[in-house]
Parts: sequence; C-alpha cells; structure tokens
Amino acid sequence: PVNSFKFELESRSINESLARSCIAALIAQLDPTVDELADIRTAVSEAVTNCIVHAYPDQLGKIYISAALYRGGRVVIRVKDKGCGISDVPRAMEPLFTTGNTEERSGLGFSVMQSMMDRIAVRSKPGGPTVVTLEK
Ligand code: ATP
Ligand code: MG
Repeated sequence: PVNSFKFELESRSINESLARSCIAALIAQLDPTVDELADIRTAVSEAVTNCIVHAYPDQLGKIYISAALYRGGRVVIRVKDKGCGISDVPRAMEPLFTTGNTEERSGLGFSVMQSMMDRIAVRSKPGGPTVVTLEK
C-alpha cells in the first residue's frame, strides 16, 4: 500500500462517528469525489454499527479497524470484532434479514455496504471473531 493505518475503538455508539471520520481523513489523501467519500463513510458506519449493536450486545468490546490505500486509488478497509460471531453468514447478508429489534433495525446494513462498495467479504463463526472487508 501507499499508505495504511490501524486503530482500535471501544464499542460505544459515540465511536461510530469517530471511526467514520478517521477513515475519511485517510481516504481524503486519494483526492476522492464527494460521492466516493460519502459511500465509504456510509459503509464503514454500517460495519461499525453492527459491531456495536450485534457483536457486543450487552457489554463493551474492542473494534479493530484497518485501512490501506493502494496505487491507482484502491481502498481496502477491514472492520473486525471479537464478539458473538455470525452462525450463518450468507443468511445474515440477505436483504431484510435481522436478528435485531425490527423497530430499530431493518436488516439492510450488509446490502448498503454491498451497494456502496465494489466488494465486501464477511468472515465469521459463532463465538467470533467477525471480519468485514470492504473494497473500492
Ligand atoms: P440495519 O443494519 O438495517 O440496522 P441489521 O444490523 O440487523 O439492521 P445487517 O447490518 O444487514 O442488518 O446485519 C444482518 C444481521 O447480521 C444482523 O441482524 C446480525 O444478526 C448479524 N450481524 C451483522 N454484523 C454482525 C457482527 N459484527 N457480529 C454479530 N452479528 C452480526
Ligand atoms: Mg446493521
């Protein structure tokens, strides 16, 4: 990569915007369009929110984030947690699937990540860890 960084956060809701801003500050070095930057911010926000809401539902845990910029403008972002894990990843990624409270969650987070990024990969198992890789 031409540049990269890693950081870790506690799974507090206030840290969702912190994660988004840190990634945006790195991506800004690529001189992205307003749309590209907005897409990446949205995707990161969905991935981090999932860690806060689902991975660590009733305790605080660590969220590990890394981002790498490559020549030609490719970006690879990884959001990892050591929370509860996902037993059926393909099912979790289906639009409208949620294990959350249906009044708050719509089950569209992974669909949003998919539409904002060129590629998304999810690796998980029950008991964790969960790793979401986002590429654009
Ligand atoms: P929305 O994102 O629309 O608020 P949602 O979070 O339920 O709703 P997705 O983001 O698509 O929808 O996630 C689908 C499901 O995958 C979640 O309901 C949850 O069961 C599971 N999931 C997602 N991320 C994680 C994670 N990091 N750890 C554990 N489970 C997860
Ligand atoms: Mg979600």
